[in-house]
Amino acid sequence: MEIENKEVLLSAEEIEERVEVLAAQITEDYRGKKPLLIGVLKGAVIFLSDLIRHIKIPVEIDFMAVSSYGADTASSGVVRILKDLEQSIQGKDVLIVEDIVDTGLTLNYLRENLISRGPSSLKVVTLLDKPDRRKVVFEPDYCGFMIPDKFVVGYGLDFDENYRQLADLCILTD
Ligand code: 5GP
Repeated sequence: MEIENKEVLLSAEEIEERVEVLAAQITEDYRGKKPLLIGVLKGAVIFLSDLIRHIKIPVEIDFMAVSSYGADTASSGVVRILKDLEQSIQGKDVLIVEDIVDTGLTLNYLRENLISRGPSSLKVVTLLDKPDRRKVVFEPDYCGFMIPDKFVVGYGLDFDENYRQLADLCILTD
């Protein structure tokens, strides 16, 4: 897709290289296991599909969709689950796959929610991290890139449901 008003923050090639490194780390760390990768819809779809194709051990995938917190829930970090998992995660090695950690509220909530379901282990991989904006202490176990406090689109991330299809990760400009 061609758009004029954008600045490339991370090229498709840079992302691909880094995704391969993350997949290699995950392959090593989960050797002998069969992790369940849980993609957070919709932003993480492209990252998850690229990531699993470079992971060399068996994996399962499932998806969750969560609502962004409204003004009233912004401080509490309560997130509504719009689509839940299709299976129990009890005794499973769960890896949440997210596009970006910003305030940390979404993943903080999701992690607590999933831990209460009794997985054998639970880790988080995020493609992007904007640590400047954190409202709660949250450290992803695997992170692709730390990025500055800019609104980014592309590689699955949207602005008003647009730009998810961009191969590069971009900052919109005027
Ligand atoms: P958090 O709960 O960490 O503040 O927010 C995480 C969610 O906010 C992400 O899953 C994503 O949907 C959205 N988000 C945060 N920063 C950005 C950004 O720069 N671009 C886009 N497209 N979404 C973002």
